[in-house]
Amino acid sequence: MIKTLDSILNLIFPKSCEFCSRQIQNPYRFCDFCLNNIDYTPTYNKDSSNMTEKILFGKIPIEFGYSLFYFEEQKISQAMIHSLKYKSNKRIGLLLGKKIGKGLLRVPIIDTVDLIIPVPIHHKRKFIRGYNQSEVIAKGMSEILNIKIEQNFIKKIQTTKAKLSYLQKIGFIIIKTFLIAVIK
Ligand SMILES: [Zn+2]
Repeated sequence: MIKTLDSILNLIFPKSCEFCSRQIQNPYRFCDFCLNNIDYTPTYNKDSSNMTEKILFGKIPIEFGYSLFYFEEQKISQAMIHSLKYKSNKRIGLLLGKKIGKGLLRVPIIDTVDLIIPVPIHHKRKFIRGYNQSEVIAKGMSEILNIKIEQNFIKKIQTTKAKLSYLQKIGFIIIKTFLIAVIK
């Protein structure tokens, strides 16, 4: 009986890192070693911002861009996104949102941002996953940046299907009166 309870608890709060199997002491399902070894972009500076903006230039209207880390297949970055999208790991999404928020705290343009807008996902997918990962990340950002989240804005604005599907692929947007940033 204790063994069964232990395995159920382990399913809810796994004791080993999803990426490297080390024992973990935090609720994120990834060990501190892995979390500290993500290939984070440099603390906000013009170069790191330009890199994100270059990727998005011409695809959507953008004033400012920022990415938290470099995405690499088979690495911790992929494992984390996979865990957030397919393994109901909301906590890692919140943590990533907080890290993005901290990364943006000292960026001057953030002072002019009114809302954080997660890109909606199809209601069927939301039902299966139990949440929209963009909303979870937005919540973490909102806590640090103290900017309100507006969930329904995208439904209210005219967005072409192609543009919306591109936005869904890359994550979510921060907007002022118009799009100002896209965050991976
Ligand atoms: Zn690990």
